[in-house]
Amino acid sequence: MTDTLNNHLWFETDRIFIGGRWLAPTRGERLTLENPSTGEILTAIARGTAEDIDMAVAAAQEARNGEWGRLTATERGRLLARLAALVQARAEDLARLEALDVGKPLTQARNDAQALARYLEFYAGAADKIMGETIPYLAGYTVYTLREPHGVTAHIVPWNYPMQIIGRSVGAALAMGNAAVLKPAENACLTALAFADLAHQAGLPAGALNVVPGLGEEAGAALAGHDDIQHISFTGSVEVGRKVQQAAGQNVVPVTLELGGKSPQIVFADADIRAALPFLIGACVQNAGQTCSASSRLLVERPVYDELMALLIPRYQALTAGPAPDDLDLGPLISARQKKTVTDYLALAGDLEVAARGRIMAGAPAGGHYVAPVLLAGVPPCHPLAQEEIFGPVQVVIPFDGEDEAVEIANGTGFGLVAGVWSENGARQMRMSRRLRAGQVFINNYGAGGGVELPFGGVGKSGHGREKGFEALYGFSVLKTVAARHG
Ligand code: NAD
Repeated sequence: MTDTLNNHLWFETDRIFIGGRWLAPTRGERLTLENPSTGEILTAIARGTAEDIDMAVAAAQEARNGEWGRLTATERGRLLARLAALVQARAEDLARLEALDVGKPLTQARNDAQALARYLEFYAGAADKIMGETIPYLAGYTVYTLREPHGVTAHIVPWNYPMQIIGRSVGAALAMGNAAVLKPAENACLTALAFADLAHQAGLPAGALNVVPGLGEEAGAALAGHDDIQHISFTGSVEVGRKVQQAAGQNVVPVTLELGGKSPQIVFADADIRAALPFLIGACVQNAGQTCSASSRLLVERPVYDELMALLIPRYQALTAGPAPDDLDLGPLISARQKKTVTDYLALAGDLEVAARGRIMAGAPAGGHYVAPVLLAGVPPCHPLAQEEIFGPVQVVIPFDGEDEAVEIANGTGFGLVAGVWSENGARQMRMSRRLRAGQVFINNYGAGGGVELPFGGVGKSGHGREKGFEALYGFSVLKTVAARHG
């Protein structure tokens, strides 16, 4: 199937969105976007720099002091509901843009468009349900708390799930009344620009949302280090997360870091293995393994190790990677660079057993960044392939004996994002959920279908702070205590 960008563009791509207007980037520079399915140039878009970030932050401050700042929570909720409806109406175009820009198989891109709409619906409904409390205090006092927006919030997002991450981060920040400056990843900007246009159509006051595509070390660093930002939401790698936290430290502003992972699914001998199977594989190969919460480690109790491998292997061998519009199990990786990272990791496999390898579709464009999914068996827990985030379709299987060893291996990386437990034993489920070091634990499922409502975030090198659910609204607001002495 062929698909072209122009079939799905209805907004400006050579402009940046600041203060409700589409502007040419100050330095007139361009960013080239590539189609990862073919390796061909997709289009060139505006490349914002520090000057544009300055303007975007100023526009956001103006919005906070102007019309946007004066809206009630209910009015903000209504605007977000309108935006959600516009996203729904454009869902197919958004999915096709994401498929072209990021290389996602269409079904996965469509899920992302639905998730964006769902985040906006959730936060539209939640906007006027965040309340303070009254606190019993001394005689003659009334004490209460208020939840107020930080002010101007910065949102730096990666390329792997642009729509979902924009929804959960910008959606929550706007619901609380912050004015947002969004910097999408340099290799995946189209749906962020589309989102800006839809927000404008929905009637969001000028400056409430500003979108500046640009390079990480240019626009990203300028945004993270900006004096007039009051909160930073960063999703990306540990390496850049450190820099963003340092920048936040300089300005003494709070920062939410949503970083990487090496998340385990733990299969006990008493598990319903057939029910687990689709989750065990899907949670790793989804988005070609480029998922922060990818379950890249499978821990399998020895009594069912052989049985499970016999079921996994043919399913792995049937997995096929191909161009996004062909909508196969996997698309390409985002870039030649990401493909090299993954193949360099695979070169470390040495004597490890390659239990199964999927395939690349016959006739897939030679310039596309395809990697066939790989299942590695019997991997020592300390091996780099079992310790480091690969961000590609590589899954390692590690055998274990008993709960204690499972916990030791599961908690034995620097990360702690998500964990899954497969067992029919209720007491074990409870014990394991308490012992695992992770921001989310799933019992007899993995991912809970996306979980817009479920607080999400990591511990350790996976980051800190929570997004999604109501918890995000607490993160995107400041608590003020008011103590009134009235006698
Ligand atoms: P990345 O860290 O390279 O880039 C993320 C964003 O940071 C991009 O917008 C980039 O332009 C920007 N950036 C780069 N250098 C910067 C700098 N010096 N200052 C400010 N911003 C800068 O990450 P990536 O390669 O785009 O994404 C992959 C990583 O993201 C993986 O590690 C993955 O696990 C993580 N991730 C985490 C989550 C989560 O919710 N925990 C979700 C998706 C991805």
